Amino acid sequence: MTSKPTICVYCGSSPGADPAYLAAAEAIGAGIARQGWRLIYGAGDLGLMGGTARACLAAGGEVIGVIPHHLREIEKETMGLTALIRTETMHERKKVMFSTADAFIVLPGGAGTLDETIETLTWRQLGLHEKPLVLLDQDGYWQPFLALMDHMVERGFTGAGFKGFYEVAPTPDAALGTIADML
Ligand code: AMP
Repeated sequence: MTSKPTICVYCGSSPGADPAYLAAAEAIGAGIARQGWRLIYGAGDLGLMGGTARACLAAGGEVIGVIPHHLREIEKETMGLTALIRTETMHERKKVMFSTADAFIVLPGGAGTLDETIETLTWRQLGLHEKPLVLLDQDGYWQPFLALMDHMVERGFTGAGFKGFYEVAPTPDAALGTIADML
């Protein structure tokens, strides 16, 4: 690949109950810059989103934020973004993040993070893309999600191939390394 790879990070707009989550987000942001990649994310300066973006910028990285007009008051964008793309709707925001990204890293997060992750995986299932996605399983955060995926396969509602559409990494460095191998 000749142009700079763009990594989309899906993550919580909250910091979570353990400071280890924010530390992991900062390690991912700084690592994306260190690798010479570009970050695209939901623009907000809250929680893990803000932590990832600020760390990437502080390490000299490029960060593209994508935010719908109606969220700008709630999820005020991080200062100093390389580019800010404003969209009309949440769907448009997800489309811009998805289509710009070469790969995805999913950090701990809530319903919004889950929505973005599941959409990306279902599009992969439908053959719409082959972009790598890595779940950062910081402190086992995604274990209940992974158990649910196993359950869906076991009960016959999802093909076993679905579990090949994502990788799981225990640490930020492992997540970055997995992406580096797959780009
Ligand atoms: P959360 O993981 O819930 O903290 O949300 C993380 C990001 O996902 C934030 O930028 C939210 O604006 C976004 N988000 C929240 N709910 C949704 C949703 N239903 N669809 C798409 N994105 C969402």
